[in-house]
Amino acid sequence: MKFEGLLVPARAALIAAGFAVAAISVATIPGGDALAAAPMAKTNAPGFYRFMLGDFEVTVISDGTVELPVDTLLKGKTKEQIDEILAKSYLKSPLETSVDGFVINTGSKLVLIDTGAGTLFGPTLGKLLANLKASGYQPEQIDEIYITHMHPDHVGGLASDGKAAFPNAVVRADKREADYWLSDENAQKAAADMKGFFQGVKATAGVYAAAGKLKTFTGNTDLVPGVKAVSSVGHTPGHTTYVVESQGQKLVLVGDLIHVAAVQFPDPTVTIGFDSDTKMAEGEREKQFADAAKSGYLLGAAHLPFPGIGHLVADGKGYRFLPVNYAQIH
Ligand SMILES: [Zn+2]
Repeated sequence: MKFEGLLVPARAALIAAGFAVAAISVATIPGGDALAAAPMAKTNAPGFYRFMLGDFEVTVISDGTVELPVDTLLKGKTKEQIDEILAKSYLKSPLETSVDGFVINTGSKLVLIDTGAGTLFGPTLGKLLANLKASGYQPEQIDEIYITHMHPDHVGGLASDGKAAFPNAVVRADKREADYWLSDENAQKAAADMKGFFQGVKATAGVYAAAGKLKTFTGNTDLVPGVKAVSSVGHTPGHTTYVVESQGQKLVLVGDLIHVAAVQFPDPTVTIGFDSDTKMAEGEREKQFADAAKSGYLLGAAHLPFPGIGHLVADGKGYRFLPVNYAQIH
């Protein structure tokens, strides 16, 4: 009520200025102030999260989220058991699951680790380019792209319509990964539900291979100063983890060693149907989690809830994930 005296002249001024005041949506509560019935925005903040790791600037870039039927995808427990574990974290299947890429600015190189799904995985994903730009970087500035593995939600953003999305970048991946997914023979003999994966790789990583811009490595390899590849085969034939280090600070990006935080941190023996070698994938996850908890470095993964960076602490037979504290950059 106290604004009434101000509102009336303001409205009169608007009318005098030629504004169609009647078209402005204003609700008047009986006996109360006039309130604008603003439409709901239905969007979130641009999907990037930035922090410093020593002298390196790290930016997590969201590609969006996708709902996964995790209670049937996860293996080693019954659907009912998975549903029960999820419920304890106030979650349920299908679970809205993040897909992220990671930009590392070393000061001399701009490196992107994984590229999201592009157009390969439906309309809720494929936002990496828009969020990269929102974060202040242009795709032309990316020097190197490191691929954890060649599933569509990690390579899909590399190209669209036969054109490289990152025109100045060289793509690096383990030779076993590239050889497996770019093989016409493997594509032909693949199960019907996997054929799309091979087509997706051809349409994305294949664009860089054809241009001589896919440069493979085998096993543990130093890539640029402060970033190295460490083999973590199991989820796919050439699955790779990337270790980022600057000024004694360390971030290990583990790709798809984990898909469902609420289930696989407390019990790393739970596997997922996408694993090409279930036993090896489980072994790599257990080894990685034990090392992260013991050493205390930061762990990041593409499918942890955005921004998907935090520390692990041992807890009984499993682990607890402590997401990073929100920080501004000074
Ligand atoms: Zn994935």
